[in-house]
Amino acid sequence: MIRHLKVYGRRFGDALLPPTCTLCGGATMGALLCAPCTADLPWNTPACPGCALPAAQPVLCPACLHKPRAFDAAHAAFVLATPVQEGIHALKYQARFQQAALLGTAFASRVRARTEPLPTLLIPVPLHWRRQWSRGYNQSIELARVIGMELGIAVDATAAKRLRATPDQIGQSAAQRRKNLKDAFAVCPRVAGQHVALLDDVMTTGATLEELARACKAVGATTIEAWAIARQPLH
Ligand SMILES: [Zn+2]
Ligand SMILES: [Zn+2]
Repeated sequence: MIRHLKVYGRRFGDALLPPTCTLCGGATMGALLCAPCTADLPWNTPACPGCALPAAQPVLCPACLHKPRAFDAAHAAFVLATPVQEGIHALKYQARFQQAALLGTAFASRVRARTEPLPTLLIPVPLHWRRQWSRGYNQSIELARVIGMELGIAVDATAAKRLRATPDQIGQSAAQRRKNLKDAFAVCPRVAGQHVALLDDVMTTGATLEELARACKAVGATTIEAWAIARQPLH
């Protein structure tokens, strides 16, 4: 609880967060980052609306035209690059929860600008219980709390469960990732009829989000968006 008071300290007007820019130490107008540092972030725009890959135009890329993804749309606020990459790493491996406030607020600012209707439910990608137990938290839940509060979307962190511990996906091909993830998730039927956003910290190939999207569709979710703080560009 203390942790979340810290994350939202800014909202309650206390002095838990420094009044200066988190990146350069310069003056801000009560925000976490100053305007020049905000403008310098590796914003992922324009991007393909189907898979969130950086693109020259905000239209479906050839891969999405050829084979639509299991989710209906994808949105990643950033390309996975400095300083966003370091921020995600600090949140994920060093329990630096202030990064969830920074990254989540920035992500929400981008989504708030859109004209399409917002999702009705935000589901953070679950970790297998053993991994969550050893890490002590799930970084996607920390991010979802901030984004849900910023955008006024209900967060359901227990609607989806990861049934199997999947091996670390780093360095695996897209085909291997798909195989590892098959039937990896179970989704609660209360997701039926909802316009769902699935949230992950990083979208690499999108295989995890696709497998979770399939599980949501199977129980009757109507529309599914894949949300990630950052998108790994193609090499
Ligand atoms: Zn700054
Ligand atoms: Zn695409």
